[in-house]
Amino acid sequence: MSLFVQKYGGTSVGSIERIEGVADKVAAFRAQGHDMVVVLSAMSGETNRLIDLANQIQEKPDPREMDVLVSTGEQVTIALLSMALKKRGYDACSYTGGQVKILTDNAHTKARIQSIDVERMRRDLDAGRVVVVAGFQGVDDDGNITTLGRGGSDTTGVALAAALDATECQIYTDVDGVYTTDPRVVDSAQRLDRITFEEMLEMASLGSKVLQIRAVEFAGKYKVPLRVLSTFEAGEGTLISLDEDDEMEQPVVSGIAFNRDEAKLTIRGVPDNPGVACKILAPIGAENIEVDVIVQNISAVDGTTDFTFTVHRNDLSKAREVLERVAGELGAREVVSDDKIAKVSIVGVGMRSHANVASRMFSALGEDNINIQMITTSEIKISVIIDERYLELAVRALHSEFELSEPRAAS
Ligand code: ADP
Ligand code: ASP
Ligand code: MG
Repeated sequence: MSLFVQKYGGTSVGSIERIEGVADKVAAFRAQGHDMVVVLSAMSGETNRLIDLANQIQEKPDPREMDVLVSTGEQVTIALLSMALKKRGYDACSYTGGQVKILTDNAHTKARIQSIDVERMRRDLDAGRVVVVAGFQGVDDDGNITTLGRGGSDTTGVALAAALDATECQIYTDVDGVYTTDPRVVDSAQRLDRITFEEMLEMASLGSKVLQIRAVEFAGKYKVPLRVLSTFEAGEGTLISLDEDDEMEQPVVSGIAFNRDEAKLTIRGVPDNPGVACKILAPIGAENIEVDVIVQNISAVDGTTDFTFTVHRNDLSKAREVLERVAGELGAREVVSDDKIAKVSIVGVGMRSHANVASRMFSALGEDNINIQMITTSEIKISVIIDERYLELAVRALHSEFELSEPRAAS
């Protein structure tokens, strides 16, 4: 018999009927004799509702109290699912992150898991009980409740699977697997039977929220077999493959990711001396603002240059403040910013063995009159920053250019 860790997302537990549906699914696995650990999200919309309440009281809510607040959503669903399982004659017990002892660091609202105590869960499993755990939360050394960042229940699921050495971690959601791109944006997006772990890591980090990036990192580090499937439809879903051989016959591009979370800042007319990049970016880093794409132009005849970079949209006003100050110190001409940008990325291990991928990408965008503002590449991805208005057009153009709408041969 197997041990499965199953994680159900917000839509999957969004109403009493849906929680009853999840109970039926879990009960069916248990009836086959499998050991079951179930991780749940809050009901869909609940975490946003709680965040909104906090924002009505404090402009920047206290991080410790924010975690006490937002972790309550998951406590509701785990209790309800355990009741639904008991109603069906299956023994079950629900636990908050602190009760299981999911120990994290103390970085409130974005804590990292450090260790998990499996003893209590093992005892329950040995007694034939279904273990139901609140996703997204843990506890720090001092007993404070912490949360793992938006989408963090995925990470709870994978971390429990790693700690319990589960047969598979199954992420049940409202789509039936990982697609070539968000199926809500491109109708013809295709479900992938498999995606390599490296590609999934890039897709998640570049904006595909189907899996939280830390969950993918955890799965890679601890070699957890990970699958994304639908709560509502039968099917094999998508396996996140850790098998290097899978790279052999990969298409050039496996998927397209995008996000609207970034904003762009430019400092114009900075004297182009050695060390200028550091003088601009060090004060930004000192404010804990992460910088993503960076472009420095070649010097103009007067020995000045323009320097552009992107940050998270939430950090734009702070970053602009810092940059205005730096501009004054360096004698730069002006600072300009734009938060109506988007990043579109093509991802694929197949790029390693194919030339011209970048030029195909750029010409497809050019044909649709989409101007590229910035470009960044790595071994298996190319990202461009464009005007946000053209995001969906760009994703569709690239999806068609790289023939991603064609059904894949079964692997
Ligand atoms: P859950 O609440 O179950 O965790 P999420 O909303 O976090 O669900 O993630 C599932 C959503 O991710 C889908 O509804 C889909 O719109 C979106 N998504 C983005 N990119 C992709 C992709 N490449 N494949 C599948 N879904 C994607
Ligand atoms: N409920 C949390 C969120 O909405 C965690 C999760 O669903 O994964 O971000
Ligand atoms: Mg999610």
